[in-house]
Amino acid sequence: MYRISPQLSEKIKHFATFPQTGVSLRQMVMFGQNPTQGTLFKASQFLSEELPIRLAHRVKELEELPHNLSDMPSIIRVKNWYAQSFQDLVEFPSKEMTPALKDLAKSMNRQTEMQALPENSPNLAMPNGNNHTGRKGVSLSHRYHSAMDGQEWPGDMHTYNEKFTKMIEAVKRRHDPVVTTVAQGILEFKQAKRSHLVDTDVQAFLDRFYMSRIGIRMLIGQHIALNKGPSRKDYVGIICTKTNLADMAQEAIDNAKFICEDYYGLFRGPEVHLHCKKDLEFMYVPSHLSHMLFELLKNSLRAVVEQYGTECDEYPPIKLIVAQGKEDIAIKISDEGGGIPRSGVPLVWTYMYTTAPSQHLDPTFDKSDFKAPMAGFGYGLPISRLYARYFGGDLKLISMEGYGTDVYLHLNRISNSDEPLP
Ligand code: ADP
Ligand code: MG
Repeated sequence: MYRISPQLSEKIKHFATFPQTGVSLRQMVMFGQNPTQGTLFKASQFLSEELPIRLAHRVKELEELPHNLSDMPSIIRVKNWYAQSFQDLVEFPSKEMTPALKDLAKSMNRQTEMQALPENSPNLAMPNGNNHTGRKGVSLSHRYHSAMDGQEWPGDMHTYNEKFTKMIEAVKRRHDPVVTTVAQGILEFKQAKRSHLVDTDVQAFLDRFYMSRIGIRMLIGQHIALNKGPSRKDYVGIICTKTNLADMAQEAIDNAKFICEDYYGLFRGPEVHLHCKKDLEFMYVPSHLSHMLFELLKNSLRAVVEQYGTECDEYPPIKLIVAQGKEDIAIKISDEGGGIPRSGVPLVWTYMYTTAPSQHLDPTFDKSDFKAPMAGFGYGLPISRLYARYFGGDLKLISMEGYGTDVYLHLNRISNSDEPLP
């Protein structure tokens, strides 16, 4: 089993004292357009600092959880994955960079700092000896392009970029089962305490922890996609600058209906009426959007089917309405599935709260996101709300007990809101 050495532990503590640096959707798009080997190299340097800082914050938090949650075997496993990835990341540059590349990295730092740093900028010592303001202000800004355009990049830079990408791909894969394993840890904790209540401390921890995971996976996913070369039209990495909402919604409807009909053995499940302008496009990460829509639609479909029974000939349709404002895009999903008792509404936002028969925890489900087949994990709503908030949006639920439920998904259009960094 992997063990955290005392030296590594010290290093993690040190990195955890540095603030995390947020990156907005707009910054990612600006940075990722037509990247050169040089910009990709620069981005790898940013990640070599930023990812260990974020991972170190998580290790620290996993060590300091309330009520001995830190001692649960599954929580320790997860902590070790974070520490191992921290180690992979901090050791990589010194192991893999040729001396020539190290010199180049230094001179690139100087060059961009001179171009981009305001005078009198504070010179905070960073773990790798870089300048903090330089790291934040420069590494993800378009100013790089002007500073580094037209240069010939040495072949070992290309090799380095490729190796770095492989390494972070492996890190991402290592963390695939994190959500199910943490959930397992919470179960161990509940059994040890013989209680079914998960208190607010634990809920708040899970919100922070999963939010941070979304951010880390976004940065890694974006870097991998950019390194794989030009992607599909209108894509910058995993961001689509012209995400078509009607198309995405229709796809989510088809998928959710398919799962629903399969799960309940229905010939024809409830209809979903989509009201959305065909040409509504905005900048977003399609995988996040489809995750949220799919989860919300499954919930509504389930509520309607359970309200009217599986023998019903004609269910009341679910409505999916999209409004396009200047500031945000609002999506309302309305069902007549009987709603939720008022006392139950706060519970729906807690992890592992479900009124469906509990599903067995199976790490193979937990590929990149947490996708349960129909229901039963109790992760659908809380994780969807994190995805919405990650880019400055939100998710709200209003229930009319005895009639139905409306959920409101607000997605920020301005796309320059900073990443939430728990
Ligand atoms: P799961 O679907 O796995 O149970 P969710 O987080 O998606 O987990 O939902 C939690 C619970 O909230 C559901 O089990 C259900 O009781 C309730 N719920 C969610 N959406 C609706 C809805 N549209 N109508 C009625 N109840 C709902
Ligand atoms: Mg659900």
